[in-house]
Amino acid sequence: MLIQEVVDVRLLDKITGGSVIGIDIGSRTGKAVLLSRGQVYTSSVYTGINMQETADELLEDLLDQSALKRSDIDYIVGTGYGRIALQYSDISSQIVTEISCHAMGAHYLNADVRTIVDIGGQDSKAIRVDPLTGGVVEFVMNDKCAAGTGRFLEKVAEILELTIDELGQEAVKSGSPSEISSQCVVFAESEVISLRAKGETRQDIAAGIHFASAKRVRNLLKRVGIEPGLIFSGGVSNNIGMRKALEDLSGHPLIEAKIDTIFAGALGAAIHALNYSKAAITSTQEAEDVFRLDLTGLENRIAERQDQLIVNAEDRKKVGYLCSYTPLEMISAAGVSHIRLFKAGDTHTVASGEQITQSVFCDFTKSILGAFKEKDPLYTSLDKIYTFYTCDCIKTVGEAIGEFFTPADIYTLPRIKDKPSSRDFYSSQILSFKADLEQLSGNIITDGELRLQIRQYNEVRKLLTQISELRKRPNPPLSGKDYLDLVKAFYYLPAEELLPLYQGIYDKLAAVPVREDRTIRLFMAGGIIADGDRKLLELIEDELGARIVAEDHCTGLKIASGYIDEEGDPYRALAEGYIDQTPCARMKPLQERVEISGGLATEYQADGVLYAYLKFCPCYGQIKNEFFRHYQQLGIPVLELPIDYSKSDQGQLKTRLEAFIEVLRERKGLTAVGTA
Ligand code: SF4
Ligand code: SF4
Repeated sequence: MLIQEVVDVRLLDKITGGSVIGIDIGSRTGKAVLLSRGQVYTSSVYTGINMQETADELLEDLLDQSALKRSDIDYIVGTGYGRIALQYSDISSQIVTEISCHAMGAHYLNADVRTIVDIGGQDSKAIRVDPLTGGVVEFVMNDKCAAGTGRFLEKVAEILELTIDELGQEAVKSGSPSEISSQCVVFAESEVISLRAKGETRQDIAAGIHFASAKRVRNLLKRVGIEPGLIFSGGVSNNIGMRKALEDLSGHPLIEAKIDTIFAGALGAAIHALNYSKAAITSTQEAEDVFRLDLTGLENRIAERQDQLIVNAEDRKKVGYLCSYTPLEMISAAGVSHIRLFKAGDTHTVASGEQITQSVFCDFTKSILGAFKEKDPLYTSLDKIYTFYTCDCIKTVGEAIGEFFTPADIYTLPRIKDKPSSRDFYSSQILSFKADLEQLSGNIITDGELRLQIRQYNEVRKLLTQISELRKRPNPPLSGKDYLDLVKAFYYLPAEELLPLYQGIYDKLAAVPVREDRTIRLFMAGGIIADGDRKLLELIEDELGARIVAEDHCTGLKIASGYIDEEGDPYRALAEGYIDQTPCARMKPLQERVEISGGLATEYQADGVLYAYLKFCPCYGQIKNEFFRHYQQLGIPVLELPIDYSKSDQGQLKTRLEAFIEVLRERKGLTAVGTA
C-alpha cells in the first residue's frame, strides 16, 4: 500500500527516511508494519510460544513482500506483551511500550485522535494523546483481572459456543441486551449459564456481555478524560459488538482508520523506529565508571545480627515492634534489643496469615502474621511484641500475634496530632511503655541512659538525612534500593553500631565525584515497602534505568524525620518528637502529610511520583486523591500503583512503569521518542 493510503495526509511529510519496522507481539496475535520508500507493508500471525520466532516470522514475511534484505532495515522497534523477548544482533533495535506505540500509531492514522481505547487479549487501556506530537499525555490500564479484556470475551464466546467474531455479530442483532452484573470471568461463566437457563437469547446475552465490558472500559476512559476524537485499537478493535457498545456508552462515534486498527501499535512502533534511526540511538550500556555502592558488608552484618538474636548471643530480652511510633530510644535504654517486624513480601506467608485473619487485610500485615504462623526463627525468638496503635490492620495483627503466638502489648496512639490533650495522652502511654519495658527486662530506665539514646538516635537520623541529601545530585551516588538497605539496618542494628556505619557510608558517598548527567528521577510515595518486597524497585532501577531519589513511604525517609529534644523531660520529648515525625496517613490533619510529600518531591527535583500502596490498605488507598491533587498542582505527574505481593502482575506493572518513564523522558527531552 502507498503510505498515503494508510497515514493521515497531514502527517505525511514527517515520514521520511529509510526502512523501518514496528513489531507488536500481543498475547494472541503478532502484528508488524514496515515503512519503506513511500510504501506500507503489514503482516500478522498468531503468537506462538516463542515470541522471537513469532517476530522472525513477521520479519521474514515483510521482507518477502517488500523484496528487501535484512541489511536494508535501518531500525526495528518491538512493542506489546512479548516485546522484551525481542533481540536483533544485526539490526539496531529498541523496545517501547504498547502505550506509547498505540498513541503514536493512532495519531498517524488520524491526526484528530485525542483518546484511544486499546483492548488486547490480556488488558485494556485508555490513553490520552498529544494531538501535536502523538506522545502520551495520560494513560490508565485495567488491573490484572481479565474483566473488560479480550480474554473475558473469549471465555464467554466459548460458553455460548460461538467464535469471538460471531459473538460480536450476535451482539449487534440484540434489541434488549441482558443485564450482566458480574465482571469476573469466573462469576460471569455461571451468570451466563443461568441466563441461558432462563431462556435469554444468545444475541441478548452477547450484547449484555459487550456492554458490561464496555462499561469497565468507559471507567478507564473517564479517568483520562474522554475527548472527541476517539479511536479503538488493539486485538479486540474489529469486534463489531464491542465497537457498538463503546460508541453507545461513550457517546462519541469511533474514528475510522484506513487500515485495520489492530495494526495501530505496530505502526506506532515503526514511527518510533523512524525517529530512533534519525537520531541514531542505539541500545546503550551504562558507562563503565558508574559508582556503585557496595553494601555486601552491611547485608552480611544484618544477617549475622539476626542469627545472634535468634540464639540470644547477648543474653538480653528481645522485642519486635510494628510501627514507626514506637520509641526505640526507650527500648534501648531498657537494655532490650529490638527489631522492626517488616520481613514481608512473599505469597506463602501472606497465604498463611490469611488463614488467621480470614478478612480483608493488606498483604504486609497478613505476611507478618504468616511469618509467626510459619515459625520464622527470628520472630518466634522474640520475648514480646509492641505496637502503638496506628492503622486498624496493624492493631488487629498485633492482637492476633498476642493471642496466638507471642505476648503483645498495644498502646494507643492519638489520631489528631496537634491537640495538647493528644500529646498529654501520648506522653502517658510512653510512661506506661517504660514501666512495661522495665518489668520485661528487670532493668530500670534512667533519665541519663534515655538521654544518651536520644542523642545517639538524633545523630543516626541526621546521618540518614545527610546521606539522603546526596540524592539531590543530578546523578545520585546511591540508588533507592541502597537507601532502603540503609533503612533496613536501622531496623536491626543498635544506634551505637549505626553511627560509625552510616558515617563511613556518608564519607564514601560524599567523596564520589559529582556527575552532571541526569537520569529520570522518581519520588516514591504511599504505604510501606517491606523487606522482601523489592519487585517495584528492581523493575524501576535495574530494568528501566530510572532512579528513586527520595521516598515518603513508611520505610523510607520518614524514619529520619523525627528529632527528639535533648533537653528537658525526656519522656515528654519522646512524645513530642515521635508525634511530630512525618505523619502516617492515619493521622489527622492529613494535609500536613500531603504537603510534606509534595515538598520532598519538589526538593529532590522529582520528574514523577509513583504512588504505591498495598491493596486493601485503609489508609493510603483511601486518601490517595488528596495526594494526587497536590502533586498535580505542583506540576509533577503521578502514577498510581495498587500492589500486592503476588508475582502475577509483574508484566502489567512493568508496562505501566515503562510507559510512565517514557512519558517523563519525553517531557524532559531525554530521548528521541516523539515525532520528528
Ligand atoms: S504507614 Fe502507619 S500504620 Fe502503616 S506501617 Fe507505617 S506507621 Fe504503621
Ligand atoms: S497503613 Fe496500610 S499498608 Fe500500612 S500496615 Fe496499615 S493497612 Fe497495611
